[in-house]
Amino acid sequence: MGKFKPPKVRRYGSGVRVCQRCGSRDAVIQKYGIYLCRQCFREVAQELGFRKYM
Ligand SMILES: [Zn+2]
Repeated sequence: MGKFKPPKVRRYGSGVRVCQRCGSRDAVIQKYGIYLCRQCFREVAQELGFRKYM
């Protein structure tokens, strides 16, 4: 135990992206010119008309 230390901050590409909706830095999607975490993306996608994206 205690052998491996997980990184504090995950970096995706260049710089850290934050969700424009909830501010989460976890798994932010940058498709379609929007910056949202997976969860927010699903909700917004439905609003935008993407019914079954995943
Ligand atoms: Zn979010």
